[in-house]
Amino acid sequence: MTTPITGTCSKQVFHAKEWGTYSCALQATTIVDGKRYCSIHTPAYVKAKRAQREARWDANSAARTQARLDKEEQDRRAACYPDLLAALKAAHSHLQELRDAWERGAISEHDGKGGTRSDRNVDCEVQARAAIARSKGETP
Ligand SMILES: [Zn+2]
Repeated sequence: MTTPITGTCSKQVFHAKEWGTYSCALQATTIVDGKRYCSIHTPAYVKAKRAQREARWDANSAARTQARLDKEEQDRRAACYPDLLAALKAAHSHLQELRDAWERGAISEHDGKGGTRSDRNVDCEVQARAAIARSKGETP
């Protein structure tokens, strides 16, 4: 049988309004290293709460860091958008020229040297046209 713990908590608590400390007035529930503690000031509980607070801080910090990195990535992408769009428009124009040449018969299925016409021209042209339309806020 254990002896009941009597007395109040031995923890000195900071009093924010009076810039001083006072003894915790709560009933002691545990004794650690000869000192009485209430359930709030028990070292194991204090340590667990601190770990919980630090984990929350770390999670918030990681979220802020990720948000900053996401913003930097968005800014980087936005900065190269005009160049990428100009390059895409030039490539789309070239693909249209190839299609026109193919339809006029200026380009044959085979080049006579073992090479063949690319079948990807149409797919690339469609993708480029759709991306350019989306850049203007249009539905492809
Ligand atoms: Zn206490």
